[in-house]
Order: sequence, then C-alpha cells, then structure tokens
Amino acid sequence: MSNKRIYLSSPHMSEEGYEMRYIKEAFDTNWIAPLGKNVDEFEKEMASYIGVAHAAALVSGTAALHLAIKLCGVKQGDFVICSDLTFSATVNPVSYENGIQVFVDCEPDTWNMDPRALEKALKKYPHAKAVIVANLYGTPAKLDQISQLCSKYNVPLIEDAAESLGATYKGVQTGTFGKYAALSFNGNKIITTSGGGMFLANDMDAVKKVRFWATQARDPAPHYQHSEIGYNYRMSNVVAGIGRGQLKILEQHIAKKQQIYQMYKEGLKGLPLHMNPYDPSSKPNFWLSCILIDKDSPVTPTMIRETLEKQNIESRPIWKPMHMQPVFEKNEYITIENGRDFGRGIFERGLCLPSDVNMKEEEQIHVIGIIKGCF
Ligand SMILES: *Cc1c(COP(=O)(O)O)cnc(C)c1O
Repeated sequence: MSNKRIYLSSPHMSEEGYEMRYIKEAFDTNWIAPLGKNVDEFEKEMASYIGVAHAAALVSGTAALHLAIKLCGVKQGDFVICSDLTFSATVNPVSYENGIQVFVDCEPDTWNMDPRALEKALKKYPHAKAVIVANLYGTPAKLDQISQLCSKYNVPLIEDAAESLGATYKGVQTGTFGKYAALSFNGNKIITTSGGGMFLANDMDAVKKVRFWATQARDPAPHYQHSEIGYNYRMSNVVAGIGRGQLKILEQHIAKKQQIYQMYKEGLKGLPLHMNPYDPSSKPNFWLSCILIDKDSPVTPTMIRETLEKQNIESRPIWKPMHMQPVFEKNEYITIENGRDFGRGIFERGLCLPSDVNMKEEEQIHVIGIIKGCF
C-alpha cells in the first residue's frame, strides 16, 4: 500500500468534467461576476431536485442559516432552540443576532434532536423565535415529529441540511421539512463548490428578502440607498458553475458513501461497536460513516484515531456537543431527564471514519484491518 493519505471526506470532481464546462461558459460569456446564468440555473436545479419552490445561492451554509435566523425575527435576548450534537455553524448565527441558544439533547436512534426533549424545551420556551434542527452526518432527524411539535407550539422550524443533501425521510428530501432550510457546499461536504451554501424556502418573499440582504440590502434607486443593514453573501457565477456540475454526480456520491458505510458495517462485525444508526423510514446520504464503541470496551476512540493517524489515515472525533463548548457554558441544555446526556456518550465513545468518495476498496479494507487490530 502506498503511503498516500486517506481522507475523511475530500472533494471529487466529475470524471466527465461537467464543472469545467460550466466554468468555461462563465468565462466565455464574461459572466465572472456578479451573478449570471450559473447562479440562476444552480438555484433552479437544486430547488427542483429537493422539491422546494425557491432557492438562493450564497457564499456558505452559515450565511444561509444566518439569514434564516433574521427572517425569524431573532433579536437581542430572544431564545432559539437548537440541536446540541452538531457542528458549531448550526448555532453560531443565533449569536450574530444576539439571540440565546437553548440546546436540546440527541436521541440514540438517529443521534439527532430528541423530540421528547424538544417538547420539554418548547413548553419551557413557548416564545422561542425558532427551532434549528441539524441532520447529523447525513442522517435525517425524526423530522415528522419535530415539525409537528413546531406546528403545535407555533414556532418556525429551520432545517440545517448542510450535511444531509440528498437524504430522505419517509421518501421526502431533507431541506423540505422546515419553514426555511440551509445547504452547504463546503469542501468536505457530499458535493462541493469549494465553498458555498444555499437557502431554501417555499415562500417566494422570504427568498427575495434573502437575496436582498445578501447583496448589501440595496433599495431600488439609481444611487446606493439603504434602509437596512446588508451583507455580501451572494454566491459567484463561477462558483455556481462548479455546483451545477457537482449536482450531476450527487447520486453517484451517495451510492459510493452508502457502499462505504455497508463495507464498514460488514467488515467491523463482531467487534464491540455499532455504526451510526438511522431510522428505518429514512434513507441517509451516508456522508460520514461513524462508529460508537460499546460502554464496557477498554478501546477508546482516541486509541483508534492515533493508530490510524500513524498510517496517514484521517479520522475525527464526533462533533463535540454544543453544551460542552466553553463558548456556550452559560447556555441551557435540555435532556429527557436529569442526568441523561446521550450527546456526551456519543462524543466520548464515537469516531468518524474515513468516508472519502476517492477512497479505493483496498484502502478501506486496509482501514478496517487497522481498526480490528486495535481490539
Ligand atoms: C458545514 C456545516 C455548516 C456550515 O456550512 P458552511 O458552508 O461551511 O458555512 C452548517 N451546519 C452543519 C451541520 C455543517 O456540517
């Protein structure tokens, strides 16, 4: 085996060169900036793939979440109920608007927001301005229960589908369950534009407002006139060209990621561990394959990660829960009962394995062999 590094999740451009074709078109027509055909078409193609009415292409998934938070009217001191076991970008935009995050523990079936704990949070904070749910590692949360609870308490749901593009819950795409949703095309995601994101909604006025804020909030006037604070959040036409090309191979990436997950599941059978679980009524996009080591095993995720690293193989701890982050130490954390903390357990005993679409079968067999050797 060559000593080429094996990555967690790295970019993969189409063999057919679709991305370059769209970029070349942008160059040939000099639509390098600001917007242009690739942006318009990428939005339309993505909205129709997911099954939402409208989309706005932005510089990042974080920008999409930020503008979703603004649309929900979050202001100084307002509460927003958030997934706890997630990447910080899910929850940081609440602070950009001076809101306060209330974190909700995950459940063991999907590692996502526990609807039981969510209901406790909604009872305690019925005036919360929004609920933000993330679909961790490409696995849909219990989205019907979560969206029903949000309707019951009349709090808008924002779906962070940054990791779950292409995953479905009861046959319906993630990114359609909330009032608003965010996608990410960051370098490590299932498809990438090098960096980028998208805001999704059925409400045309919401999408218009997002496009307005994202282009410096310019009022209709011949001079630069502003009645609101704006942002420079719009995706460029060159970047959107990469996205259009990548969208053509999204299904191919999902198939490969699923194959990687299955191979780990088979290859690691018999060891005291489990793969990241999913609800049988959902179809994840299998963005990252993860393991959770049984409680009584002396093997720790750190031992496995350090052993893999010595062989130039990348793995990563489970995203550290938000309630354990120093920056959020003052925020409230709601679990189904006192002392229960599923998120901490997953963080302490879990590990994200290399799930790169560029990984060859023999390389994955090599990774599996090393993991087995740790037990
Ligand atoms: C990547 C990610 C984001 C942020 O997307 P960017 O495009 O990197 O800003 C938000 N939420 C989750 C869960 C993510 O994994």
